[in-house]
Amino acid sequence: MGKKITDVSDVYFTDFRTAGVGLAGKMERLACAAGLRGIDFQDKLVAIKVHFGEPGNLAFLRHNYAASIARVVKELKGLPFVTDANALYKGERADAVRHLRAATENGYHEASLGCPVIIADGLRGHDHRIIHIEMKHFKKAYIAAAVAEADVIISLNHFKGHVETGFGGALKNIGMGSGSRDGKYQMHSVAVPKIKRENCVGCGQCVSHCAYEAITLDSSRKAQINKKICVGCGQCVAVCNFDAPQISWDHGGQALGERIAEYSAAVLKGKEHFHINVITDVSPLCDCVGYNDIPIVPGIGFLASRDPVAIDSASADLVTEAPINPSSALHKHIDESGGMGLDKFSLLVPEARWRESLAYAEDIGLGNVKYKLIRKKYEEA
Ligand code: SF4
Ligand code: SF4
Repeated sequence: MGKKITDVSDVYFTDFRTAGVGLAGKMERLACAAGLRGIDFQDKLVAIKVHFGEPGNLAFLRHNYAASIARVVKELKGLPFVTDANALYKGERADAVRHLRAATENGYHEASLGCPVIIADGLRGHDHRIIHIEMKHFKKAYIAAAVAEADVIISLNHFKGHVETGFGGALKNIGMGSGSRDGKYQMHSVAVPKIKRENCVGCGQCVSHCAYEAITLDSSRKAQINKKICVGCGQCVAVCNFDAPQISWDHGGQALGERIAEYSAAVLKGKEHFHINVITDVSPLCDCVGYNDIPIVPGIGFLASRDPVAIDSASADLVTEAPINPSSALHKHIDESGGMGLDKFSLLVPEARWRESLAYAEDIGLGNVKYKLIRKKYEEA
């Protein structure tokens, strides 16, 4: 990823307080303060990488944020498009036709954004470019073509929980989110779940959500997974209300985080890039799930940085500092400080080892774990 110039990266932050300026405008001003306008966009194809949100989930970012960024890019003579790659699992984003339909349903379309929406890895998720990276887990990465061929990457990330990695932020959106079907399969293959039989009530919910027909009910109406077919997408873990499918952490957790970091390095290799995290609606699960639970913390604010590792590191720390929402999934952990100072993502997924994953991202040259948080008041942000 190039030689490190410093061990500490600047991360700009502003909260959601406002008077007079809309939140999308506030985010735009913060991004500009963090250097967005310093990027040469002239005649460049600019991928604004988002997550459109699985229909049914209402925690995904509103299109207004992407539209604001697209407008800045156009002002600076760039050619923006808003993009995401197809999902690995069953749902409304598994191919480009359904994915575009879902994006439109959630407010992402050319009329609302002022630029095109492109499904980055084509009709069935096989349109990728191979990027050679020669790292610990992968020698080559399969990156969705429209992302691989873009000149500039802007990641616009909803910061929230994730069933396998603890949280999903910039690296998750860039790395996992830009993998084609083959790429996502490569990353997920360490996370094949096991069934805790005593928890399974035989409801069949997981069976109907598995896109690979890898999970069935046995003669005792207990779920069983065919490991030869399972791709480790984690969908059965997300949909089961009884904690029966459980991630096998022998190889998962940190290994998945490291693989995502390597894919992020492949996506950003040789490109100008910029990152925005929005810490709002911090549901325990990610936007790939067709519902969202009560946020575990109150809405915190916007962050912007040139460094994808530092922005995730700062975002996770801000969530750690925040109080726990009383009626959320973490309510039992509320102490005399209201949960302030507790690592919420490790409470949600103790085995995710997200700090080690960020350290690995730093080791491979993707950015710095250490950051300087530059707080902007809303008047000046
Ligand atoms: S594993 Fe969970 S979702 Fe699947 S049948 Fe058992 S209880 Fe239902
Ligand atoms: S069994 Fe679970 S993890 Fe495996 S492919 Fe099916 S839904 Fe995904």
